[in-house]
Amino acid sequence: MERELILKLNTGTIYAQLAKSRKILVQGVEIMLHEGESLALIGETGSGKTMTARSVMRLLPSNVKQEGERICYRGEELPKGKKLTGLTGTEIVYIPQSGADSLNPSLTVQEQFQDGMRKNRIPYLKRRLKTDQILKEVGFSDPQKILSKYAFELSGGMAQRVTIALAAIGEPKLILADEPTNGLDKKATEEFFSLISHLFPNAAKLIITHDISVARLCDWAAVLCKGRMCETGSAAEVIGNPWHPYTQALIGALVANGLQETPVLREQAGNCPFYQRCPKVGERCKEEPACVQSGDRKCWCNRQ
Ligand code: SF4
Repeated sequence: MERELILKLNTGTIYAQLAKSRKILVQGVEIMLHEGESLALIGETGSGKTMTARSVMRLLPSNVKQEGERICYRGEELPKGKKLTGLTGTEIVYIPQSGADSLNPSLTVQEQFQDGMRKNRIPYLKRRLKTDQILKEVGFSDPQKILSKYAFELSGGMAQRVTIALAAIGEPKLILADEPTNGLDKKATEEFFSLISHLFPNAAKLIITHDISVARLCDWAAVLCKGRMCETGSAAEVIGNPWHPYTQALIGALVANGLQETPVLREQAGNCPFYQRCPKVGERCKEEPACVQSGDRKCWCNRQ
């Protein structure tokens, strides 16, 4: 059976409006996600991953603008305003870097569950049972104990599990997770993936990460450098056999130094986002990077 296309995104241009100029943050990043699929958006800090994901929710900071974008959600243009608010927290869920950041600091976990139940129109008589059931599914053996807590009383791993539990009140079709396992150890990271796969098997999942070991757990990977797509394809292929010099550098730096920036070697010329740091630069690199494609695999580099 054909899987439903949940998200078809072209970011257009995302830019920061400065006093006399604009700084382009993301340019023409395209992503497609079908139900049940997961895609890791990989890149260093500042590569445009978060802006790309936030643009889907139309959650860009006030001085950041977007133009020329196409955001199709389940076959239709993603609505704005109240209609989008209605989808947020029900069909579309955003899991931020720190679970505690997504929780309301002035409400107990129970009060936040009540809000989520109301928003998802869960019948009043079913709420208590559903709350207990979800909290147990995310690993809280004594749900009543956690319900009375505030965000500041939860550890990072607990807050992340509460965030996932709140997402599970509805039936999300699209999950956007921004560095969801940052600060968690390997065991908690694996638990996070196992939980979201178990709780949301049919949701499309866009996972922002700079952690290659996290990206390996996804179906697809897309690599961003300075807001432009360098390479995309199945996560196994992109990580196992990277084509683009930038992806090669990211993976090469993985164990040794945790994705530290490669040094600047030369002045920028042309539009390749990795030109200044690329060790494989050649004469053709001053031209617009061409797309080399093989099946679902794409790479934008003039070296090939
Ligand atoms: S286009 Fe040239 S400079 Fe850019 S990544 Fe490819 S080889 Fe390096």
